[in-house]
Amino acid sequence: MLKIYNTLTKQKEEFKPIDPPNVSMYVCGPTVYDFFHIGNARSFISSDIIRKYLEYKGYNVKFVMNLTDVDDKIIKKSIEEKTGTEQVAEKYIDAFFRDIGKLTVAKADVYPKATGHMQDIIDMIKELEQKGFAYNVDGNVFYDVAKFNEYGKLSGKKTDELEVGARIEKNEEKRNPLDFSLWKKAKEGEPFWESPWGKGRPGWHIECSVMSCKHLGKTFDIHAGGNDLIFPHHENEIAQSEAANGQQFVKYWLHFGFLNIDNTKMSKSLGNFSTARDVLKRYSSEAIRLFFAQAYYRGPLNFTDELLAGAEKGLEKLNNFAEKLINVRSSNSRKSSFSIINNYRVKFEQVMDDDFNTSRAVAVIFDFIRDVNRELGESEIAKEKLLKDSKKFVSDTADKVLGIVRLKKLKKKKTKVNIEQIQQMIDKRTEAKNEKNYALADKIREELKELGVELKDSKEGTTFKVVK
Ligand SMILES: [Zn+2]
Repeated sequence: MLKIYNTLTKQKEEFKPIDPPNVSMYVCGPTVYDFFHIGNARSFISSDIIRKYLEYKGYNVKFVMNLTDVDDKIIKKSIEEKTGTEQVAEKYIDAFFRDIGKLTVAKADVYPKATGHMQDIIDMIKELEQKGFAYNVDGNVFYDVAKFNEYGKLSGKKTDELEVGARIEKNEEKRNPLDFSLWKKAKEGEPFWESPWGKGRPGWHIECSVMSCKHLGKTFDIHAGGNDLIFPHHENEIAQSEAANGQQFVKYWLHFGFLNIDNTKMSKSLGNFSTARDVLKRYSSEAIRLFFAQAYYRGPLNFTDELLAGAEKGLEKLNNFAEKLINVRSSNSRKSSFSIINNYRVKFEQVMDDDFNTSRAVAVIFDFIRDVNRELGESEIAKEKLLKDSKKFVSDTADKVLGIVRLKKLKKKKTKVNIEQIQQMIDKRTEAKNEKNYALADKIREELKELGVELKDSKEGTTFKVVK
């Protein structure tokens, strides 16, 4: 039984999707004004592991991630880069897809863009206005927080405490400092859309309410995002969606912990801002995923080069084991005739069912490798069958769910090395033949034969065929 910690109820709950085996899942995506940083990568990778584990369990997951392609930061960047906001968005959407691809994050089923949903956004704001949850001040439309009784239920914040909070920006037009923008009046030179309130563009929070509803329905199963989005972003999404639709917005709220860099908060001004792209130049995606998987997704995490290098080192053991598997055909069934494999599968599922405890899942996989290696040394007869079943287990768990090993990539690498090695040996043999050292030439031919490589000599030279 899968249990998930729900930020809304502040407890672990049994996961019961609305319409099993279908699961609807929404994750707040990037604002496309720059390359995403390694802290964002944590959200993308953690949600990817959660989605893949749900799929492992047989759920049919519809996964939606929005792309915020109109925003103050994009406008600022377009001025800096002396180009249009559309060009800025396009450039960084492209970079986003390339980088998540390298991190082996599976693509969402839908990537809705704010600019592609303007009419839906306007319709929801109109709905909120008609129901008395929104007010228009000279082309700026605000959400009236005082009208929504349950405001604060996700973050656990009390509105009266929030109102005196110094961090709330004072705005003359707002009735209450907590009220937030649904529609922003266009300033000179900014991109705008026509609306019942005049030329303008949507606020950030309304995008997610509209796009999740459009693609997943008024109530859906899982909404995830970084911890820093709980307040105000997700609190505001609830206020908008539940006021407009009159029903529960989300069943399970999941939040990913904050990532510090060298024990300090990442910021551009501190110069410790690391893009995922930069980190990928120094470490493999498997190591980055292992680094994240080794921690509980909800907790804070500290990023250092030592830890990443440690993850890279830890992978050696896993890769060495996986190399034994790449040339065997995987079993089709999860059920194995070896109790050792069945036991580890049960353990893997137990820890992942406990709120996606990936750090324990990683430990299960390393224990599995240790025990299977021991078994391989002892039972020579069952070796091939054991490897086949091990391959199925490693492929299902470490590869397809956690993404800390990639069997296909290893195989490719191995084959490439082999072909290079084979060619080197053939060259050596040709040289030996030219020097009339037939003993050495025959020895090389035998060595290649043992590797499953057959040689064919002709006037044009030597060709080879892999027969095994
Ligand atoms: Zn969002």
